[in-house]
Amino acid sequence: MATKQEAGGHQEVGHKSLLQSDALYQYILETSVYPRENESMKELRELTAKHPWNIMTTSADEGQFLSMLLKLINAKNTMEIGVYTGYSLLATALALPDDGKILAMDINRENYELGLPVIQKAGVAHKIDFKEGPALPVLDQMIEDGKYHGSFDFIFVDADKDNYLNYHKRLIDLVKVGGIIGYDNTLWNGSVVAPPDAPLRKYVRYFRDFVLELNKALAVDPRIEICMLPVGDGITLCRRLS
Ligand code: SAM
Ligand code: CA
Repeated sequence: MATKQEAGGHQEVGHKSLLQSDALYQYILETSVYPRENESMKELRELTAKHPWNIMTTSADEGQFLSMLLKLINAKNTMEIGVYTGYSLLATALALPDDGKILAMDINRENYELGLPVIQKAGVAHKIDFKEGPALPVLDQMIEDGKYHGSFDFIFVDADKDNYLNYHKRLIDLVKVGGIIGYDNTLWNGSVVAPPDAPLRKYVRYFRDFVLELNKALAVDPRIEICMLPVGDGITLCRRLS
């Protein structure tokens, strides 16, 4: 949201900067993100900024990163777990070719429908298959069906952190060999290195153990190669090897 900068703080809604300073983050946004941000993305970002849960949104720099990544790997068939108002979903939909597909899942349809008119106006809604409900049973069904093994080029996981390892068990089967799973928020507001007695907000403390467990598991998983990036709140890219 382009509002006044507060006390040296950056303006990006929902973003917890992991950089050396907020000024540095603001520099990135102003120099290379906002001036090139797609008009619909800007509209959705500004609409989301007014929502009470805007802390959950993907930041504009991460949206730009996802867009670049999807184009680099020529992604066509993708999945997103955790949509909220759809900022990362719109970034994905805009980056895919016209016949690209996104299976998007969220337990909350209302928030998705807030952003949907912007997605429709951008002319990319036809790429999206939105399923309302918990993602895990859908993944189980897909594995049971047998039609979806190794079929996804890219999967973005940005939902319930206490289920990430459960997702990983299934997604490793559904992503294609050479394809990428991106787990979001793997630096969890920097709390992954907080001392045990650090004053953390309740939800940060609760999910921290799950994030730590995920990070450990990914680091030793021989089926993937990984890269943990300090973009947004930390994103770990996992490329399936076999
Ligand atoms: N990627 C989104 C964006 O760019 O704005 C942000 C997603 S937000 C951090 C997390 C979302 O996960 C919420 O909208 C929440 O409703 C959804 N969620 C939570 N538990 C879920 C589950 N079991 N299955 C699917 N979605 C879930
Ligand atoms: Ca996120």
